[in-house]
Amino acid sequence: MLPIRDCVRQTPGYTPGEQPQGEGFTKLNTNENPYPPPPEIFQTLPAQLEKARLYPDPVSTELRKAAAEVYGIPSDRILAGNGSDDILNIALRTFVNPGETVAFLDLTYSLYETIARVHGANIVEFRTNEKFELDRPVICPEANLIFLASPNPPLGKHLHREYLEETCARASGVVLIDEAYVDFSDENHLDFLDRHENVIISRTMSKSYSLAGLRVGFGLSSRAIIEQMDKVRDSYNLDRIAQTLATSALQQNEHFREIWRKVRATRERLIASLRESGFVVFDSEANFVLASPSWIAASDLYTELKERKVLVRYFKHPRIRDHVRISIGTDAEIDRLLDAIQEIQATR
Ligand code: PMP
Repeated sequence: MLPIRDCVRQTPGYTPGEQPQGEGFTKLNTNENPYPPPPEIFQTLPAQLEKARLYPDPVSTELRKAAAEVYGIPSDRILAGNGSDDILNIALRTFVNPGETVAFLDLTYSLYETIARVHGANIVEFRTNEKFELDRPVICPEANLIFLASPNPPLGKHLHREYLEETCARASGVVLIDEAYVDFSDENHLDFLDRHENVIISRTMSKSYSLAGLRVGFGLSSRAIIEQMDKVRDSYNLDRIAQTLATSALQQNEHFREIWRKVRATRERLIASLRESGFVVFDSEANFVLASPSWIAASDLYTELKERKVLVRYFKHPRIRDHVRISIGTDAEIDRLLDAIQEIQATR
């Protein structure tokens, strides 16, 4: 028998969205950004490729400086991660012993549960109300770490700001606010960092900065927390290419702001069109929407769309009726989706 830890054996593992290998898909399933980064950022690439023989900067100095400019906090309060998933894992390994408690909402990013299980942590799921919102602060005195995403998938709405802040004020452990989707909304929680030493905010360059393939994320927190998390990360957790391209991308913030505006406009158009076509759609402040068709099972819609080479994510959860989650594409991609939906509707 292999000495596999029980908690690993018993965990089904995380199922990421499909990454189709064939060509020709309209890919609206994993919340990537449909617009490419500006080509200028690739100018720094040849110099880095020439240095491929050498290890990268272990502490991502230039990247953290660029992030400090964008987020308005000193770079020694920022940890760079191999995607923001890396930051979530580092937080877990910094603050939670196996057997100790991690809390998160009953409907949220499913990776929290996977990594907590694999870590051997005790899990507390905090129940949201009938609208899947936070209607009171998360009070869980035994939790060393609370993961809260705002905007919160799969719905895509921000959590109630006052309850979130009260959660931070009353927590005896650390609260990680996952802001993966925040750039597609009007608010963020960076100001919490001024008032609460126990808060970590995670950010990613996968969605709003069009760099999902490079795996770059950040943890922003107090110096006391970053100093400890820095000991836990892998020795060279970001490669040269990721560091250099992500640094250049952060320096092109205006380019991305324009993209965020476009994504938001397309999101509102998609929500309106889906509602006209007989879908129940949750309002969203992210780059995806969760929608449930009234005239077809969501699983059949997913399959029929896939047959037409439009890929969305089928979403099933005990608390919520079956849905499809649709990432916001370009206007042309969303038109393709809406045409495919009309075609399927005509066959019913
Ligand atoms: N947090 C949330 C809430 C997400 O939905 C995702 C995307 N799967 C991530 C974090 C991970 O982002 P990254 O690509 O930076 O690891």
